[in-house]
Amino acid sequence: MITSPKNLRTGRSIWQGRRSPKVPVHALKRDIESDVLIIGAGITGAMIADSLSAAGLKIAVADKRGPAKGSTIASTAMVLYEIDTPLTTLSRKIGKADATRAWRRSRLAVDAIAARLGELGVPDVARRNSLYLAGNVLDPKGLLREQEARRAVGLASRFFDRRTLHDKFGIRAEAAIAGFGDLAVDPRKATLGLLEAACEQGATIYAPVEIVDIDAKRSSVIATAANGRRIRVRHLVFATGYEFPDSVPRKGHKIVSTWAIATVPQPRRLWRGQDMIWEASEPYLYLRTTSDGRVICGGEDEDVSDAQTRDALLPAKTETLRRKLGRLMPGLNTTAAFRWTGSFGQTETGLPTIGKVPALQNCWVALGYGGNGITYSRIAADIITGALTDRPDIDADLYDFPRRSL
Ligand SMILES: Cc1cc2nc3c(=O)[nH]c(=O)nc-3n(C[C@H](O)[C@H](O)[C@H](O)COP(=O)(O)OP(=O)(O)OC[C@H]3O[C@@H](n4cnc5c(N)ncnc54)[C@H](O)[C@@H]3O)c2cc1C
Repeated sequence: MITSPKNLRTGRSIWQGRRSPKVPVHALKRDIESDVLIIGAGITGAMIADSLSAAGLKIAVADKRGPAKGSTIASTAMVLYEIDTPLTTLSRKIGKADATRAWRRSRLAVDAIAARLGELGVPDVARRNSLYLAGNVLDPKGLLREQEARRAVGLASRFFDRRTLHDKFGIRAEAAIAGFGDLAVDPRKATLGLLEAACEQGATIYAPVEIVDIDAKRSSVIATAANGRRIRVRHLVFATGYEFPDSVPRKGHKIVSTWAIATVPQPRRLWRGQDMIWEASEPYLYLRTTSDGRVICGGEDEDVSDAQTRDALLPAKTETLRRKLGRLMPGLNTTAAFRWTGSFGQTETGLPTIGKVPALQNCWVALGYGGNGITYSRIAADIITGALTDRPDIDADLYDFPRRSL
């Protein structure tokens, strides 16, 4: 075993009820060779496979479940450049210069995701603005300082007071920062679209194939699958999501649980602009709309890593999410047509871990933990493609080992 197996999710997520294109997958019937093996065919593995195959490398992707069947299909897929950790807080943790770089890089990543999904014609991708509501992490004064900090480094934003929020959006909250140009996607369609592009560029997907052993040498890596077949490559990438690779230091990461619902369709009751909304609170609440006029509402994160406890809480958490949604937007129908729960990774800084695995030669890791997981998948694709094509990424040090001690 090279990754700790996890029960990643339970319940039926909204994306499971939708039709999606199929990508070609193969059984691993013989030993093979390639330039790079990516373990994991979720959104992270898909972005990396697309990017590396576009750069001319021969790519194999292996997944023990299949494309987009891990955490990705549970994602509420609000693709935000606004990092979970506010700029003012991150500046205190890692210094203003690096915090600014991290925020700006996320901005670029969201634009890059929009550009690539647009180029590929992936359906259900919508540009959305965001509203970050005052809460117990940042009160209205804290939000005002945060908005000023963002503005000062060139990140467009606006501050709205209680009255403006009510009059403009019908939202009951004390204050908010508006952000611009984020994305709402269908994470399964995005993943399958990117994998399809990677296959057209020469990549091959093997599934269901579990990698159970890795032998990392100076000039090659040999990965062994559960059926005994071997994949020999020059580089290996762990894109295994919340199933943490055993050989990667865990310091600064933890697994918690999160819950989500999607309402019945109600296109006429949605708020103006359908901005994506989230709270500066712990635990936080967030919401977005879908192309068929539903509202997805999630959050209520708890420090629970055991799947049984997480699943048992699903009925109670559904009710809490409905109640909070109704309080924030009294005009909405909060009936939950879908409800689901999943494991969720967090880091001390809110930044992901992307880089060369310290103890394994030629092995890379892309662990996009945190509420900005999908944004980080893009950054991982850029950094790993840069490293494997001798064009190092300018921001690679922000996400690399050793993780900063705070
Ligand atoms: C409820 C919920 C809501 C979320 N909301 C958001 C959001 O709004 N915005 C956002 O940006 N992020 C969000 N996230 C986080 C985001 O969904 C994740 O960061 C992202 O889906 C992780 O993708 P991944 O490809 O890294 O992992 P996964 O999708 O889990 O893919 C990893 C794959 O690796 C495979 N694998 C693992 N070990 C092995 C092995 N040994 N051999 C072969 N295969 C292996 C697994 O089968 C799996 O398919 C949310 C997550 C959850 C659970």
